[in-house]
Amino acid sequence: MDTRHPSDDAPTTLPARGGPAGLLFGVLPLLALTACGGPEEGDPPVTGMEPPTAFVGATLWDGTGTAAIENAVMVVRGGRVQAIGSADEVAVPEGATEVRLDGRFVTPGLINAHGHVGGINPPRSDLERYARFGITTVNSLGGEPDAAESLRDVHGPEQEGESPRSRLLMASTVVTGDTPEEAIAVVDANAALGVDYIKIRVDDNLGATRKMAPDVYRAVIEAAHRHGLPLAAHLFYLDDAKDLLRSAADLVAHSVRDRPVDQELADLLVQNDVCYVPTLMREASTFVYRERPGFMGDPFLTTDVDSAQVAAVEDPEAQARVAASRSAALYEEAMGVAMANVKALADAGVTIAMGTDTGPLGRFQGYFEHHELGVMVEAGLTPEQALLSATRDAAGCIGRPDLGTLEAGNWADFVVFTADPLADIANSRSRELVFVGGRMVARLDGAGM
Ligand SMILES: [Zn+2]
Repeated sequence: MDTRHPSDDAPTTLPARGGPAGLLFGVLPLLALTACGGPEEGDPPVTGMEPPTAFVGATLWDGTGTAAIENAVMVVRGGRVQAIGSADEVAVPEGATEVRLDGRFVTPGLINAHGHVGGINPPRSDLERYARFGITTVNSLGGEPDAAESLRDVHGPEQEGESPRSRLLMASTVVTGDTPEEAIAVVDANAALGVDYIKIRVDDNLGATRKMAPDVYRAVIEAAHRHGLPLAAHLFYLDDAKDLLRSAADLVAHSVRDRPVDQELADLLVQNDVCYVPTLMREASTFVYRERPGFMGDPFLTTDVDSAQVAAVEDPEAQARVAASRSAALYEEAMGVAMANVKALADAGVTIAMGTDTGPLGRFQGYFEHHELGVMVEAGLTPEQALLSATRDAAGCIGRPDLGTLEAGNWADFVVFTADPLADIANSRSRELVFVGGRMVARLDGAGM
């Protein structure tokens, strides 16, 4: 693979690096996609101060909720969408680099409203993997190492010279405390680091631990809001969800899993304009490893996976522990409750934001997000609802309306698929190219299908 740019002084925006078998990274000639032939070696789609790039000919779903545009033209400049529409409406600007995407499908980059980075591997490495799977923004809800230094510099991956990866929001230390004063001190420290979210857990872990007390979480929510920061709540129980919403929590970061949701919860979510993040694959991860799940042989996973994690979940002793675990059986039941609840809340008009809680061992970053979409559809959402939850709605939920839709002025974060994910959500696995801020961060060799 020739990874040099034709002219030596031109910026090389994609690092030359080997990828796992079946995946090709680095500066690949994007123009090889063009139907018209043309040069074998093309400029990588750098869109900084350079002429615009026009992506032409795809069926493009812009994430706003309107129908897909056939034979679309999307002009990208400076990392952002400059113009978008059908070929009848939008002309390719003079001097633009034209990239033909005939027969392909384009959606906004997928957004994970509840993931984690830095738990096992360095944050940067996690963000690179998320990006390769088409997850172009990750809201990392707590536990990242060295938040002050190692994460601050990965907030803006569209920067020239930065390695290609997903965008990041982060929560840093999950706030705990036995008293309001203790907990507020953690909020203040996180705010000083420049976090995007304050995260708490209100859960007794199936009776095993003590829940955060209401007077403590109310104080945390007030403190977060004093800093202008939203509060994301891990929860399990319906009653806690309601009290957190009455206490002005800003994001429900997991499904209600103890019992069916009711109209009162739906009303609180809608009236408070709070999003609900199902994290269905979090539940799955608690019980599927009692044996070797079928997906462990899936090339979509195995061509881009941390082999140490595979070994850990395939260890027979670990599998025996899961098989004997009472909590695994309870969480398996909880997943059924969670699936019914996301459908009920979506029907009630609640905004659903796709999230997976990936990052911990066995919750495979990038891969599980595609499963999450599939499980949401299995739960009764349409493919379009699932995709909206991972694009426009997730972006709105995390306070980033400049992401999640492909509209003029927004960041050009998008995924090119060889099959239409709106027709069948499993086609999200056919992602071929991934762009963040107009920069190609991944090119796949058809490994998804
Ligand atoms: Zn989490």
